[in-house]
Amino acid sequence: MRIVLLGPPGAGKGTQAKLLEERFGIPQISTGDILRQAVQDGTPLGMQAKQCMDRGELVPDSVIIDIVAARLAAEDCRDGFLLDGFPRTVAQAEAFDAMLQRRQLALDATVDLHVPRAELIERLSGRRTCRQCGHMFHLRFDPPSKQNVCDECGGVLYQRDDDCEETIAARMEVYERQTAPLREYFRDKGLLREVDGSRDSGEVFAQILHRLLPAG
Ligand code: AMP
Repeated sequence: MRIVLLGPPGAGKGTQAKLLEERFGIPQISTGDILRQAVQDGTPLGMQAKQCMDRGELVPDSVIIDIVAARLAAEDCRDGFLLDGFPRTVAQAEAFDAMLQRRQLALDATVDLHVPRAELIERLSGRRTCRQCGHMFHLRFDPPSKQNVCDECGGVLYQRDDDCEETIAARMEVYERQTAPLREYFRDKGLLREVDGSRDSGEVFAQILHRLLPAG
């Protein structure tokens, strides 16, 4: 199964990606996670990406396309993958198409998660992530039992630098301008599967499975 997860920041792509990864045994490729790791490691890529990320802007297409091309060539992507946060521009989508064509592969579906804007902002501003295992909590909807401590592994929880109010607004604007046109792009290819992402994560997951496997 080869799937792209589309949707604005805070729509639940990361959460659904984890569930899909488990269900289909395919790796989640999150370009945001790859970039955050590079920032944490202090690599040249990380230093270049941090400036864009802190402003809520996109990292240049050529940088991201090279990262994804290298990642998709890895052995664990042979039987499928799940892209979370890529493509984010039409240029990235076209480059992705070319990557698939070169290897005579086809995308199965693009899942588009819809969530009202006010809810996205509330979700992002309360989001906390474990530094160790990446598990996500929400201060209001899914708080950890001990403040700032991960229930899963005991790691420390942190708030992403780009989950502050100002950067959230910039990311929303970037999404509408640069990423939302991809809906049409994938709709034209007959690949778009729209899902109401405002429900709880279990219900959203059930809807996604229904849209991916309508007969089963
Ligand atoms: P995310 O974790 O997907 O919300 O991504 C966090 C940030 O990483 C974004 O706001 C961008 O600055 C950068 N980023 C992640 N994926 C991409 C991409 N496909 N193209 C450009 N920038 C990206």
